[in-house]
Amino acid sequence: MKKRIKTEKLDKYSLLYPSVLEGVSDYNCPTEAISNGMWNMDRCIFCRQCDLNPTGKQNTYSIDQKIPDIFKKSLYLYPVDSGTCGACNVEFTTLFSPQYDSSRFKIFMASTPRHADALVVMGIYTEGMERVLREAYDAMPEPKIVIGLGACALSGGIMGKGAMEKYDIRIAGCPPTPSAILNAIIEARDKK
Ligand code: SF4
Ligand code: SF4
Repeated sequence: MKKRIKTEKLDKYSLLYPSVLEGVSDYNCPTEAISNGMWNMDRCIFCRQCDLNPTGKQNTYSIDQKIPDIFKKSLYLYPVDSGTCGACNVEFTTLFSPQYDSSRFKIFMASTPRHADALVVMGIYTEGMERVLREAYDAMPEPKIVIGLGACALSGGIMGKGAMEKYDIRIAGCPPTPSAILNAIIEARDKK
């Protein structure tokens, strides 16, 4: 193993997380997540430039539609990347790792939309992916639900326009944590 690798010296006065994001609305928020003092979780990219610190809250999700009872015994998720930076994918994949082990909640990954119950949309929704998303959704059997994952899918983040699909579950964050994703799905399934 190679030893004595030289590493860069960290400038004592440099910012640990330098940011060049320019605010476009109140509170110097780059995504207009804060407007007139109100916070829109769909737009927040957790950049922590604002003073309100809205991102201290980890479980940032909303359930627009209860998941049908038929999915209580098993729920198969099919993810589609419609233009991500890769981080949402990593957090989503972690659900199926030994650490989170979503199978104990009867939540599994589907390798084809034909076996899927829920379409998980991630990314800014590029033009090239519009048809792919539509075809994946059409290939899924009824009943089916759609989950929006991450600021990019919900609102476009800072680069895109966001998928136009109507979501049953909206999971905010940039990226959302695996526990937030699991909590959102389990809560939507257990909702009376
Ligand atoms: S943390 Fe969220 S609300 Fe605050 S500035 Fe960044 S994007 Fe805006
Ligand atoms: S929401 Fe954030 S983490 Fe997820 S794809 Fe967009 S930029 Fe990446």
